[in-house]
Amino acid sequence: MDTANLTRHETAARSAAISVHRIRVELDLTGAPERARTGFDTVSTLEFDARVESTWIDFIGESVRSVVVNGEERAVEYDGARIAVHGLSASNTVRIEAVAAYSRSGEGMHRFHDPADDLTYLYTQYEPADSRRVMPCFEQPDMKAEFTFVVDAPAGWEVLSNRAAERIDVGVGVQRVEFAPTLPLSSYITSVAAGPYARVNGEWRRDEQHIELGLFVRQSLARYLEADDILEVTRQGLDFFTDAFAYPYPWGKYDQIFVPEYNLGAMENPGLVTFTESYLSRGAATDAQRAARANTVLHEMAHMWFGDLVTMRWWDDLWLKESFADYMGSHASAAATRFHDAWVKFAANRKAWAYQQDQLPTTHPIVADISDLEAAKLNFDGITYAKGAAVLKQLVAFVGDDAFFEGARRYFAANAFGNTTLEDFLVQLSDVSGRDMSQWSDAWLRTSGVSTLWWEEAGEDRAVLVQTDPRPHRLRIGLYDRVDDRVVRRDQHELDITDERTEIARPEADLVILNDDDLTYAKIRLDRRSLDTVEGALSGIEDPLARAVVWSSLWNATRDGELDPSRYLRIVRAHAPHEPNIGLLVGVIGNASHAVRRYVADERRDDEQRQWTEAAWSALQQADAGSDAQLTWARAVATASAFDDAHHDDVRAMLAGAAPEGLAVDPDLRWQLLTALVTTGHATTEDVAAELISDDTGSGRTAARRALSSRPDAGVRAAAWAAAWEDTTLSNDHLDAEIAGFRAGGRRDLVAAFDDEYFARIGTAWRERSIELAQRLVVGLFPASSSLEPVDAWLAANDDAPGALRRLVIEQRDHLARDLRVRGGR
Ligand SMILES: [Zn+2]
Repeated sequence: MDTANLTRHETAARSAAISVHRIRVELDLTGAPERARTGFDTVSTLEFDARVESTWIDFIGESVRSVVVNGEERAVEYDGARIAVHGLSASNTVRIEAVAAYSRSGEGMHRFHDPADDLTYLYTQYEPADSRRVMPCFEQPDMKAEFTFVVDAPAGWEVLSNRAAERIDVGVGVQRVEFAPTLPLSSYITSVAAGPYARVNGEWRRDEQHIELGLFVRQSLARYLEADDILEVTRQGLDFFTDAFAYPYPWGKYDQIFVPEYNLGAMENPGLVTFTESYLSRGAATDAQRAARANTVLHEMAHMWFGDLVTMRWWDDLWLKESFADYMGSHASAAATRFHDAWVKFAANRKAWAYQQDQLPTTHPIVADISDLEAAKLNFDGITYAKGAAVLKQLVAFVGDDAFFEGARRYFAANAFGNTTLEDFLVQLSDVSGRDMSQWSDAWLRTSGVSTLWWEEAGEDRAVLVQTDPRPHRLRIGLYDRVDDRVVRRDQHELDITDERTEIARPEADLVILNDDDLTYAKIRLDRRSLDTVEGALSGIEDPLARAVVWSSLWNATRDGELDPSRYLRIVRAHAPHEPNIGLLVGVIGNASHAVRRYVADERRDDEQRQWTEAAWSALQQADAGSDAQLTWARAVATASAFDDAHHDDVRAMLAGAAPEGLAVDPDLRWQLLTALVTTGHATTEDVAAELISDDTGSGRTAARRALSSRPDAGVRAAAWAAAWEDTTLSNDHLDAEIAGFRAGGRRDLVAAFDDEYFARIGTAWRERSIELAQRLVVGLFPASSSLEPVDAWLAANDDAPGALRRLVIEQRDHLARDLRVRGGR
């Protein structure tokens, strides 16, 4: 049995038997800069009541040195994931001394040596269950404790945790920092960061509340930190949420730190939120990128209440924090910051993630059935985040803004510092709205799948609104007329539907949008006349939210094989260059590129690719100097140029300084352009070496690795393949670089020989690698074959493979089956 994979059943039994009060954690990080040192000392002292004689404490590390129960030294019983503890009394103090390991996978205590200046940085990342890689603890969300962290670190480093430091003792070359005890916290949101991070201070004041704000980043990136912008959004968010939730920010200070080699966007550790450095740009960023960062800042801040103050009991109710935070990220962006169009991007891009996931055979209800930690890890997905948020948006349309926020306020007041399930939220919402919420909850939270809506003629001036997979929707039908080059809304009707067929007045207009304003969660189809209107004048639709719904509709129809990919691409080529909303533009460009590579029939692909490359090139030439559109099209050209070398001379010229006027070619764009040249055989290892000299940084080294592995040479690809599977010293980012190199340029001729080996390797990789890295291998190296046979054979022969591994393979199979179906015009 895999004892690291905790189950819902056993954790529920443990929290029923054990009441934890306090955990003191002492970490010795003084040796972190020494590369040869693989681990660090960690000592946990846990105080808890027990109604059982034995239990276990979670820990994944190098070794356990001693276990002392109520003052008595015990024999160490440690299997690599659990420390058995026996002879418990009603009230206990257990002290465990152990050695934990520094991480290179972003799980636990990640250690990064910055090549730019040779400095060492540490940070932790735990969700769902990696705090046990740093400290012996009870690794489950419903065992909240007061944590006191004591950290020994090199003198001069910033040492951070959830609370402010209470005491700092400085010795020779070292310091001991003791932090104030936390309020009750689940272990997965505790946090420590240490290193010579650069710091920017700020503050937020509101009536009698005064919160210290801190921003942190590696020194070599400090000049790219847009501190004013981030602090402004932070203050706007604190204003907004403390009002909206009527519960003062509970966690003392509010630090936000940007960290290297991060596995996700951000993590809501109370008082110390961690973010990926991808939210900082090394020279050139669009305002859409700043909008995305603001959205994430606000998403994490919403978690200070949804998730941190009130926490789901188990991962089945992960949506109780993620769906809400995702909703709040867009809602607060639109309501409280300069990014008023947050729902536009949500409608087209964020919801595309949900629609895609919800059509996989592995989809699940928003309130999920999560039997163990591996299943939990995979549920940070398009359903839990994007569909959940979309469904909450629908709920707000249904009960109203006031009732929704009043329900939230009562929920926090009733459950502060506790753990909850769906019922606890519904009770409050039913109370304030005066409606029975169980029907809504059954229809939206306990089912899976997405409805498709369209309308059909029903004689005279009548029509029928049809929905597959019927559920209740509140929606608006928008009627738009074409006036010269513009498409203008003439009228809008709001209605509630529940059935498969609803009779409506025949919508007479050049363009009929069935989910106008994007209130509900459904795929909508355009009728023939509307599609013609859109083909001629999509960019003439004035309302950006309406354009978002139309772009989304076109993309869904293409993915479903109802709209010919070539027609979709024709519409994109005609109208994307005129799309003023950069968030939408980025999404559309990504979809177009996906359609060319995966949905277009094999015999048409080269031609479509060429037309797309030319369209991107020409849009780049025509974009205004210095505009966000110009930068966005430059990135599109770089992406396209890895598949088509039509402009390799121009790309080379851009690298040599002949970029279009106003375009900021920053180090990241340079790497993207150069990698495209390498992939198509128009640049050499010497070019890569030269680029690395001018950008010998963490991201520069990762980019160079990727570029080198992208060379169009079967031997190079074979080496990337071997490195990905076998080199266990690769960090998470370097693993990604090898995977990307292996796949670069869609060169099946160079890599198809490895298809069978993939299926032979994934079982072992799942057993031996951490789940984060195993997931990257299983998803990233899945063969883009033209046959389902090998994957079906693996699935048939591996019925007993771990559920999470099977889920990933089934999802990849489904993506491939869709590609083949759409490609074949079926
Ligand atoms: Zn979140």
